[in-house]
Amino acid sequence: MTSQDFIKLEEKYGAHNYHPIDVVIDKGKGVWVWDVEGKKYLDFLSAYSAVNQGHCHPKIISALTEQAQKLTLTSRAFYNSVLGEYEKYITEYFGYDKILPMNTGVEGDETAFKLARKWAYAVKGVPENKAKIIFCEGNFHGRTMMAVSASNDPDCKDGYGPYLPGVELIPFNNIPALEKALQDPNACAFLVEPIQGEAGVMVPDEGYLKKAYDLCKSKNVLFIADEVQTGLCRTGKLLACDHENVRPDVLILGKALSGGVMPISAVLADDDIMLTIKPGQHGSTFGGNPLAAKVAIASLQVLKEEKLAENAEKMGKYFRQEMQKIVDELEIVSLVRGKGLLNAIVIKPTKSGKTAWDVCVEFKENGLLAKPTHGDIIRFAPPLVITKEEIDFAIKTIRNVLMKFEHEVVAVEA
Ligand code: PLP
Repeated sequence: MTSQDFIKLEEKYGAHNYHPIDVVIDKGKGVWVWDVEGKKYLDFLSAYSAVNQGHCHPKIISALTEQAQKLTLTSRAFYNSVLGEYEKYITEYFGYDKILPMNTGVEGDETAFKLARKWAYAVKGVPENKAKIIFCEGNFHGRTMMAVSASNDPDCKDGYGPYLPGVELIPFNNIPALEKALQDPNACAFLVEPIQGEAGVMVPDEGYLKKAYDLCKSKNVLFIADEVQTGLCRTGKLLACDHENVRPDVLILGKALSGGVMPISAVLADDDIMLTIKPGQHGSTFGGNPLAAKVAIASLQVLKEEKLAENAEKMGKYFRQEMQKIVDELEIVSLVRGKGLLNAIVIKPTKSGKTAWDVCVEFKENGLLAKPTHGDIIRFAPPLVITKEEIDFAIKTIRNVLMKFEHEVVAVEA
């Protein structure tokens, strides 16, 4: 079967809730993937930062295959011989009393949301059904009704009402707006991405997270960080919050917690918060399964053993420095921004109406995989095991492709 055959198959039998770039990936190793015709590509998306450790990392795959032959799932109706080891490992790793294991990122967010409400009623003393959780405009927390209710992106939200009450949206990176929202005594949590990934890698001002955290503390409101995309070394530190020495009250992790091997997410918090959820009040059949537990331990070990935070910091700086030269040289790209290896460029409008999508299609033709987010923005997030030579290949490819679009850019009015 050819790539076109595989694409037709998905078109015919799969729901049309995605619009992928026309490449059918068959194999992956480290930062590289191969299509069904055998063509090699540099993966510059990493499954939206789930494959931080690189495709099919041998240590993670070996943890998976070993455990898969022994025991995969018991449900939480019974104890299993791996979960406790994982819980001890991850709570010590991040410095929290407890973990609540889930599967997808959005389940982590959903769990944190429910936890905040429980805490609001059981500890803070918010009157029943009055708890309010503050979110930022432009957020992305996934696709469940909680996340959709908290979103202001029409693609994500429209046509799914009625929405969940008890949610307030404020502008991102805006301390006065947070201060105002926190005046409501029923506010129980501020749930925020330290850098807004899906919105186009929006990096807030330095000091924003610390100020937001301090404000939350002064009002007895939980500071909840969604580090599903920014966490696990992506931005050059273990957590993006570490850049400002902020320790979230509730920490949400997903994606790279499995190195991209299976859906594994986690919510971490201390006892005064976590123990407000009692037996039977929340859960998941697959959450905390022994297979996931072994995979997550291996994935976390790889981050430290291979110093991926340090590499992301170093390679990210180098990438932005080289990318800035292209921004200075070419009209078609207006800026580069980001932290560590979570970066984005913004493409200017072209005379012929070509967009960031067309640029990404051309990247693909030239052996580099990336995808636009929100119209004119292209996110660059390679696996964190990337080397300088591979960054150089990416920079060369990006420059060559952008050159092809350069003559099409609409002159910016003086
Ligand atoms: N939170 C953030 C910040 C994300 O970027 C995403 C996915 O991109 C999610 C949550 C949802 O994760 P999942 O798709 O695994 O449910």
